[in-house]
Amino acid sequence: MLRGSPERELAAWWEAEAVAATKAQAAKEQVRVDPGAAGEPERKAGEEQPKEPAPAPPCAAEEGDARIPPRPPPTLPVSLAKPEPASGLCPHGKSRIKGRSCKRSSGQPDEYCSLRPVTVDSSKARTSLDALKISIRQLKWKEFPFGRRLPCDIYWHGVSFHDNDIFSGQVNKFPGMTEMVRKITLSRAVRIMQNLFPEEYNFYPRSWILPDEFQLFVAQVRMVKDGDPSWKPTFIVKPDSGCQGDGIYLIKDPSDIRLSGTLQSRPAVVQEYICKPLLIDKLKFDIRLYVLLKSLEPLEIYIAKDGLSRFCTEPYQEPNPKNLHHIFMHLTNYSLNVHSGNFVHSDSTSTGSKRTFSSILYRLSSKGVDIKKIWSDIISLVIKTVIALTPELKVFYQSDIPAGRPGPTCFQILGFDILLMKNLKPILLEVNANPSMRIEHEQELSPGVFENVPSLVDEEVKVAVIRDTLRLMDPLKKKRESQSQLLGKSLASKENPPHSDLASASQGNANPDAHLPSICLKQVFPKYAKQFNYLRLVDRMANLFIRFLGIKGTMKLGPTGFRTFIRSCKLSSSSLSMAAVDILYIDITRRWNSMTMDQRDSGMCLQAFVEAFFYLAQRKFKMLPLHEQVASLIDLCEYHLSLLDEKRLVCGRSGTSSGSRLQPSGTPQEAAPPAPPAEGRPQPCTDGAHKVSHSRHTLS
Ligand code: ADP
Repeated sequence: MLRGSPERELAAWWEAEAVAATKAQAAKEQVRVDPGAAGEPERKAGEEQPKEPAPAPPCAAEEGDARIPPRPPPTLPVSLAKPEPASGLCPHGKSRIKGRSCKRSSGQPDEYCSLRPVTVDSSKARTSLDALKISIRQLKWKEFPFGRRLPCDIYWHGVSFHDNDIFSGQVNKFPGMTEMVRKITLSRAVRIMQNLFPEEYNFYPRSWILPDEFQLFVAQVRMVKDGDPSWKPTFIVKPDSGCQGDGIYLIKDPSDIRLSGTLQSRPAVVQEYICKPLLIDKLKFDIRLYVLLKSLEPLEIYIAKDGLSRFCTEPYQEPNPKNLHHIFMHLTNYSLNVHSGNFVHSDSTSTGSKRTFSSILYRLSSKGVDIKKIWSDIISLVIKTVIALTPELKVFYQSDIPAGRPGPTCFQILGFDILLMKNLKPILLEVNANPSMRIEHEQELSPGVFENVPSLVDEEVKVAVIRDTLRLMDPLKKKRESQSQLLGKSLASKENPPHSDLASASQGNANPDAHLPSICLKQVFPKYAKQFNYLRLVDRMANLFIRFLGIKGTMKLGPTGFRTFIRSCKLSSSSLSMAAVDILYIDITRRWNSMTMDQRDSGMCLQAFVEAFFYLAQRKFKMLPLHEQVASLIDLCEYHLSLLDEKRLVCGRSGTSSGSRLQPSGTPQEAAPPAPPAEGRPQPCTDGAHKVSHSRHTLS
């Protein structure tokens, strides 16, 4: 349940948008599908199948590939030393002063000239290239398939932020996202939130990290079994670096974990297996939903109205020792099931082994299921998951694009894999930083002869997602809109007839989207910020952490930074000496560094800082629930820091040199970040929402 019962509000909105789309699409499908098909068994699986299994598609780096390309050294590009302005662009992709880059149309003032098309560098798009090309064509933008010497407005990367060295414009990847959504990192991030808000985060199966938590896993399972001997759980083991179902297996008992050899070298997550999924045509399926993270700060999240449903190819049975290894029964991965003789490629979006999510919703609604509730729960799951991921993403961001250095702004399409339980509760399986955007699949035309054929289901969903992401990120949108307003005024004053050539030509220019369908991505945050802001405690901790990081580009807090944090926030006392603070720092940092095996920098990572913060909060505010302890400590820290900022501002204004004396108490000595803006003394925080932002960066 969402706080303040916003479910109705969410549902009402979604009903008007997504549900209408669902019905429209389903109505379209009815033309092709037997009208009585809803609720009836689908065409028998196995018909129209290739005799031999199709070869595996190449393990696309875009889809769940955990291989992280090496980070290039942070060198300054040649173009920075000698900026080379693009036509219509300043060196960093900013639009030139109006009029300069525009050609005059005959006899008309500057405002009427055409805007240049948005430029997109698609040279690193990899397997998303086909869908991207179609999108660019539909938008009438300009593609640079081999890159461009001059800056582009948008860079489309297939894998990572680091695919290209970019210093301006917008790029479709955030630094650190690939790392953040790896199975272990995601589990850790969600677990922090589960500790703070157990009920709000019960959409993620209970998970343990191997090998570190193997003993804990054994002990916890034994404890529950001792209390309830009838409990017969199943667990799923997933290698951290795996993708597309690779290396996944089911177990009934912790002793079944394949510890020998590989586990140490191949860390994994072991997770409660959801035994009672919702079935359609007796088959298990999952949902791939596309989510656009448009900006980190302010947080902006959009969800696509339609997604994909990927089906298993063997009728589902609850796990038992005999069927545990039946991957076509338990794993919904397309890359696995496409090898099954039962896989059904279909030209329809509502039949076959891959369908649109809207066709599933339509089918459910025709059986009386409350699909508004399903959507509302899914929106809530998505927002909460992104809230769990953003704190560390901010740390990555300030490390890769330090404040004051040139850099692009970022956005990213994420693939959320969601399972619906029999009781319709959505469960988060994983998040993909590089969801596959392929719009074709391999088909065996005759034995041994394969061809890539277009996949209508993929094309329908994925092209809309990419095209509408581009529309939302359009850097010239505002300019175009203001141009159209100017033109409107000008025409009105000249009393031009409304249907003159000039008016219609300019309208076409002002609204080049007129020929396109309505945008398939719907904003859910900040739209529902009020209902979810109370969850953003770790985000506020990350702001504190970043403030005390000091050295530009680092992601770990040194001992001086930690001490300065304690001093500035006045957290030491007679019962917490600075010596005890040092020991706390060393203990937690050492443990986290041995667990994460991240030897890039020494020092305290954000998650270790969060653990230390929890410890300090518990000491200071005994008796309260953990989230209240933590919120109270954050309020206190923010309060003391705002006082410091005020003082610094006053000293700065009065021109005294005492500002420099304040420096060591507010920021670590190794490098002092610029003073954050003082925003006044915060009121005691009642709802946990941000009262003061100490972030030094504007992240997008
Ligand atoms: P991969 O990145 O290898 O695809 P996933 O976490 O997506 O790994 O898991 C693969 C498949 O296993 C999922 O698509 C889903 O069908 C199944 N699965 C994963 N976790 C669970 C779970 N906890 N309960 C039930 N099924 C699961």
